[in-house]
Amino acid sequence: MNFISETQNKITEAQHNKNLPMLRKIKQSIEEKLERISITINSLNTLQRIIDNELFVERPRDEIVEDYDGWLKLIKRKRMTSEIIPGTKKIYITNSIAVNAREVATFSDVKQDGVLYYIASCNHFAIVINNILLHGNIGTIYTNDNKPKYVKSCTTTPKCSRIDTCTFYHDPLEFVESSDVRNFVNGAWIYNSDKTKYGWRRFGSLDNIDTDIMGVKPIDISDTKARTMHDILCLIAMIENT
Ligand SMILES: [Zn+2]
Repeated sequence: MNFISETQNKITEAQHNKNLPMLRKIKQSIEEKLERISITINSLNTLQRIIDNELFVERPRDEIVEDYDGWLKLIKRKRMTSEIIPGTKKIYITNSIAVNAREVATFSDVKQDGVLYYIASCNHFAIVINNILLHGNIGTIYTNDNKPKYVKSCTTTPKCSRIDTCTFYHDPLEFVESSDVRNFVNGAWIYNSDKTKYGWRRFGSLDNIDTDIMGVKPIDISDTKARTMHDILCLIAMIENT
């Protein structure tokens, strides 16, 4: 006879005999049994966690890095070789910094699939998001106004014929022979709603976005595209090289 039916019989008998001390004793024995079951369930859960950890021992380990002031914690996820997207390879931006990208011949080969592409002929990376093509490379950020190069787009008309010496930026989509990399003034990342400084960020603050949108010009869109691509590449370079 098992514990449940045995206990049920005892309860019925004790109820019938109005035996209160017996009912109390049965209750105590059930409680003791429950406590043992609870200990067993805890052991089972612990066991399951150990098994899970064993099974996923190959997963990348997350790393928690404490900031210098001790209150900001960053989590760095270590990449595994198996996570590298098939058909991509390391493209070196400097001698030591590389990002993984899929090399293609032209901008028209860039697909909208979340993969970073690289067009070697112009040394530009490219992605497509929401049908918007972003392209570029990591440029220089000038911290003073000392003769910045490739910060403004070349608007020479008729079309600039001396792109080897011209200090304005020539977009490889417009100038097939160009491999210029767009550079920036550091103000490009500073929001400046009054539009007095060239190249500074003029759109993106929610409190002014309804009015700022009315002043947006094509140059603001092309500047933002270039800056965004620069930032995306910086992000990927940081993640993939640390
Ligand atoms: Zn030019």
